[in-house]
Amino acid sequence: RAEIPTNFIRQIIDRDLAEGKNGGKVVTRFPPEPNGYLHIGHAKSICLNFGIAESYGGACNLRFDDTNPEKESDEYVESIKRDLEWLGWAWDGEVRFASDYFELIHDCAVALIKAGVAYVDTQSPEDIARQRGDFTHPGQNSPHRDRAVDENLALFARMRAGDFNEGEAVLRARIDMASPNMNLRDPVLYRIRKVSHHQTGDTWCIYPMYDFTHPISDAIEGVTHSLCTLEFEAHRPLYDWTLDNLEGFLASRDSLPARPRQYEFARLNLNYTVMSKRKLKQLVDEGHVNGWHDPRMPTLSGLRRRGYTPAAIRRFSDMVGVARADSTVDTGMLEAAIRDDLNVNAPRAMCVLRPLKLVIENWPAGQVEQLTAPLHPQDEGMGTREVPMTREVLIDREDFLEEANKKFKRLVLGDEVRLRYGYVIRANEVIRDAAGDITEIRCTYDPDTLGKNPEGRKVRGVIHWVSAEQSVPCQVRLYDRLFTEANPDRAEQGFLSVLNPASLTVLEGCRVEPALAGAAPETRFQFEREGYFCVDEDSRAGELVFNLTVGLRESF
Ligand code: ATP
Ligand code: MG
Ligand code: MG
Repeated sequence: RAEIPTNFIRQIIDRDLAEGKNGGKVVTRFPPEPNGYLHIGHAKSICLNFGIAESYGGACNLRFDDTNPEKESDEYVESIKRDLEWLGWAWDGEVRFASDYFELIHDCAVALIKAGVAYVDTQSPEDIARQRGDFTHPGQNSPHRDRAVDENLALFARMRAGDFNEGEAVLRARIDMASPNMNLRDPVLYRIRKVSHHQTGDTWCIYPMYDFTHPISDAIEGVTHSLCTLEFEAHRPLYDWTLDNLEGFLASRDSLPARPRQYEFARLNLNYTVMSKRKLKQLVDEGHVNGWHDPRMPTLSGLRRRGYTPAAIRRFSDMVGVARADSTVDTGMLEAAIRDDLNVNAPRAMCVLRPLKLVIENWPAGQVEQLTAPLHPQDEGMGTREVPMTREVLIDREDFLEEANKKFKRLVLGDEVRLRYGYVIRANEVIRDAAGDITEIRCTYDPDTLGKNPEGRKVRGVIHWVSAEQSVPCQVRLYDRLFTEANPDRAEQGFLSVLNPASLTVLEGCRVEPALAGAAPETRFQFEREGYFCVDEDSRAGELVFNLTVGLRESF
């Protein structure tokens, strides 16, 4: 694998290792919430966390951050595992769930109550919110802030037992209601949710908050470097508060293999798409796309179906790098990554998207000649394919004009062009239907032009084609950007108002070389002169479906 450029996080790790911190160990984790499918933004975090574990001989855990049961599901858990495996990363040991630690996290809460730094607040959520203050005003202490430890323990036990309804009680950290950092104004550690959890069923009706769960889970797993996105910077003091206050307790339970530290890096933003799971879910739920793995989605499963390779996504992640400043990356960079990969690795084939029939009048009916074509023009090792030539062939409608100047390097009435890997042909006559539309072109071929130039004439150009009888029918799905605005999140009428109505064009009746007849889903090709395409999972025997992955060159 290519060298990964260093970044500020790798530099921190280098320094920690040089100072002998964490016993020389490097442990990271990727902590998705199973409330949606992974997207290309997650790939950045994945490649960072797993990439660090790989280069430092450490480990990276997969841990589902499953503290919001109402939004999470097994479907998401399974999709995330599938996408990670597809990207080619292997997590350390078993898959972990924050919910595996609920009992210990509960005991941590009890330890904080006993230490006098957590209390049960039985005010209404509205009162608690009102007392929080804002950036210019300090908050107000809750009247329950000084409850006795025994009373807090009893109330917390009753919360767990289900004696309260949702919203009737929360457990809060007792930190500082006047802190300039809002996250430290006695944040909620536990709340009541009377819903089933996809892992723990109905065992719990109290659930720990993310900010409380995360540092404890990291510590239990021996995570040394807990990497997250910048919006968590202001949460770091609470991360540290939690671990500082639990250090003794976790050590007494043999549950503190490491004192993790949190570091923040910038999120990946891509133009012409949205990347929040809430918005992606809305696109799916409202039917604006055909599911989470619609090839127009920035999800990993969407990109996979579109024809992206794991290598291209990893390469892209390395290219965007890791910094502390937010920025938006051009989608063209992602497209360049897959184009570079497929240019080298995708076998070539010919597919005619909008067929126009040519009849080669001096070619005997029924005669088939197998022409030989390389699978890759620069890579002989890929081998060759056979392309059948027959009396009737199909070319793209856009490759024919009745009249054109010399710049049109395709077929023109009364002039010659080469059929790629085949003969030079001449267009002699146009046949039309009653409506005046062209239905076929009568042509002749020059038998002395296979693999050599004709004597004394210059041919306009080379076009792709397939045999009319021997090619196989297919559907081709062309994709454009999902949004018409570079930043859909900023659209005045909301991101849905700038959906691109032409993001999908379905072409029926396309024809591809017979060699592709049995191609399996996800097989990728370069359709010569058209772009890179891959077989869609909707393909059936005799009904191939191809997705456009990316054009041959940058088109924007
Ligand atoms: P969303 O806002 O899309 O719901 P999230 O951050 O809530 O994203 P998580 O499932 O919690 O989604 O993310 C798992 C990990 O991936 C976190 O560490 C998160 O910081 C990281 N991550 C999520 N989105 C991005 C992004 N756009 N760029 C880089 N890392 C990201
Ligand atoms: Mg999250
Ligand atoms: Mg989220």
